[in-house]
Amino acid sequence: LKEALKLNSEDIEKLKEDLKIKIKNSGVGAYIEQIENKEISSSGNGVPIAIKNNINVKNWELDCSSNILKGYISPFNATVVEKLQSAGLSPFGLTNMDEFAMGSSTESSSYGKTLNPIDNTRIPGGSSGGSAAAVAAGIAIAALGTDTGGSIRQPAAYCGVVGMKPTYGRVSRYGIAAYSSSLDQCGPITQNVEDAAILYDIIAGYDEKDSTSANIPYTKITPNLNSNKKFTIAVIDNFVAQASNEIQTAFNKAVELLKEQGHKIVHTNMIDTNKIISTYYIISSAEASANLARFDGVRYGARKGDGNLKDMYVDTKTEGFGYEVKKRVMVGSFVLSSGYYDAYYIKAQKVRSLIKAEFDKIFENSDLILSPVAPTTAPKFGSYSNALEMYLADIYTIGVNLSGLPAISLPVAKDKEGLPIGLQLIANSYEEQTLFDGALSME
Ligand code: GLN
Repeated sequence: LKEALKLNSEDIEKLKEDLKIKIKNSGVGAYIEQIENKEISSSGNGVPIAIKNNINVKNWELDCSSNILKGYISPFNATVVEKLQSAGLSPFGLTNMDEFAMGSSTESSSYGKTLNPIDNTRIPGGSSGGSAAAVAAGIAIAALGTDTGGSIRQPAAYCGVVGMKPTYGRVSRYGIAAYSSSLDQCGPITQNVEDAAILYDIIAGYDEKDSTSANIPYTKITPNLNSNKKFTIAVIDNFVAQASNEIQTAFNKAVELLKEQGHKIVHTNMIDTNKIISTYYIISSAEASANLARFDGVRYGARKGDGNLKDMYVDTKTEGFGYEVKKRVMVGSFVLSSGYYDAYYIKAQKVRSLIKAEFDKIFENSDLILSPVAPTTAPKFGSYSNALEMYLADIYTIGVNLSGLPAISLPVAKDKEGLPIGLQLIANSYEEQTLFDGALSME
């Protein structure tokens, strides 16, 4: 990205033509246009940035990889797209994702699956699997993804690229299709840490169009990047113990390297990860059921049923939503319903506060946390025997979203099969400078 930003408009045109040819031949299905055999969507003549299929680009079809939104043409730009354009960059192609960003494998897309470019028999991760696969396959200069419970960091780790989730409120959610509004954040997926900082600097900042946007002064990261700072880095021992042996080995090596560089490592423990999983899936499903209620056949995309109002609602949702989305809407409606609200939803909100308090405590005497991103490297297609198994692979990422913290996933090693291993650094809220500086020293 850094290099592409130096190109003149003629060279950028050439770059885009090259990318289009490479995309056609790549075979990973990172872009929905590629899967559909269509011309790559492109507007403007700036450096091309791949856009996850849940971010509004004016006059482009936006369907969040769901049948329910087929044919919906976006009338406006998301703030992040406006910001790209003001900085001279341009949206280029829509990347595949799990339907409405619900999933960890990019398999629940209405377009079908995206392959992991490192090993085509494996999932690219998700839900921003298309964005991560595109960057890893060299068919995107950089991409935007969204992270509600790990959807930027986990596919970045599985594909061997860098993925960053900003502090909740740092990047505007305006114009990004909501999955779980108190958790969603948009962020960069790039080839290296500096590119991530560059793209983050472009999209971050207060936006009055998003009521949860943080009106907190913000200094650009990139001009102040410094890989020589020394930090106190916390390791959560009971988290690390749940990762595969290979990930633990890579983790321990990274810790040794950080020590050699002069960083101080401190050891700690945290709340049982199963509690984090339950809390996340209650809150995110509850918010999803409220957010997705608007897709009823009246206002957006597809309309089904030819009879009365009820049939229209029922048929539109029955035919439009896929299995995973329906399940979450039902779970969400259940935990919000009278009689169960206190037992599930309110309880989950209380546990969410406890999780946040535990992170706060760790940050009282450390600058960063080092953690695995996922318990294993990219699994093979079909290796999860049920959805719960896939949910359990989110143990390391979702606590960060529940606490609103910024985090960055970095490729640090390869396992013996050549699959990338990613680790993440987590910083305190609004400490993105510390996050990027720490990440740079690990690169
Ligand atoms: N895997 C998580 C889920 O299915 C996270 C998804 C995301 O971050 N969008 O909800």
